Amino acid sequence: MADMINTASTSRFEEILASRGISRRGFLQLCASIAAASGAASGAAALSVPRVAEALEASVIGAVDGHLFPVIWMEGASCTGCTETFTQLEDPNIETIVLDMISLTYSDTLSAGAGYSLEEAKDQTIANGNYVLIYEGAVGTAFDGWVLRIAGKTGTELLKEAASNAQAIVAAGSCAVNGGWMAAEPNVTGAMGVQQFLQQEGIDKPVVNIPSCPANNEWVLSVLVDVVVMKDMELLKKRLNQFNEPGDIFNQTIHENCQRRGHFEAGEFVYEPGSIEEKLGYCLYALGCRGPLTRSICGITQYNNHTSWCVNSGGPCIGCCEADPLNTHDNWVQVNTPFLKRDRTLRIGG
Ligand code: SF4
Repeated sequence: MADMINTASTSRFEEILASRGISRRGFLQLCASIAAASGAASGAAALSVPRVAEALEASVIGAVDGHLFPVIWMEGASCTGCTETFTQLEDPNIETIVLDMISLTYSDTLSAGAGYSLEEAKDQTIANGNYVLIYEGAVGTAFDGWVLRIAGKTGTELLKEAASNAQAIVAAGSCAVNGGWMAAEPNVTGAMGVQQFLQQEGIDKPVVNIPSCPANNEWVLSVLVDVVVMKDMELLKKRLNQFNEPGDIFNQTIHENCQRRGHFEAGEFVYEPGSIEEKLGYCLYALGCRGPLTRSICGITQYNNHTSWCVNSGGPCIGCCEADPLNTHDNWVQVNTPFLKRDRTLRIGG
């Protein structure tokens, strides 16, 4: 590892670590966590620990020098659940991400500042360019965009401003990908996803879509690692499928990796919540599980730092990762409600 790191900066870097009470071993454990967070998603050792160590060292020194990759986190029509989930990351924790990996110059929810100074910080970041825009929530386009008003501007105007100079845009969560539940009929706010909105406005910027409700924090982190830590847009572009989603996360169905799959194959189903079949961990298909039609690796990554996920806790998958970025009608709420109803389009057994 030592030869990977520029000797001139090593002693300074170790001083920084020591001043924070972090040992060299602790630092390498952090690098392994970051590599694993992205590697778990990519299913490959694309991000090796030494590469992450090298990039993170530069990032930490950048933090001290005041040169960190800027990130703007904006919210449209959202419940703030994606931000809330992101702050629950434990490994690496949110302090490490916010203090050592990125410069979060604007967040509707997390920024300590407010009002004029916060808007000014955002404007300066936009003017300087070379930042990542994370957008959470649906884009409300009705009433000329006045369904959202911040600092005297419409939500749509603010998104166009922030997107115009961004290096990459991350649509975090199904609402940002295609409007989510706000876009379900009758869609009075004209809700849609970021990619569709920017396309309509003629703004040609790369949008990475991370559907799920809320956006899985490790999936968002894996994209940030590619752009911010590794500074490797090509690596990120290679990951994307036809929906601009990281393919390593969204190219397989939940059903493929489900812990209850054996029971599905054996024709053993839960028909009543609280029944003996549920206690036995049988398949939830008869309760309306959308796992066979929903693409993501929830069963591998899980939520809450690998604690659990919907199907593990006895709740059938409600398909929240299904969101066509360019078709608001193909969103998980409109397609899958009522949730606890068996999907008859999928035939099983006889
Ligand atoms: Fe498939 Fe859902 Fe049954 Fe799991 S619980 S095996 S995802 S139908």
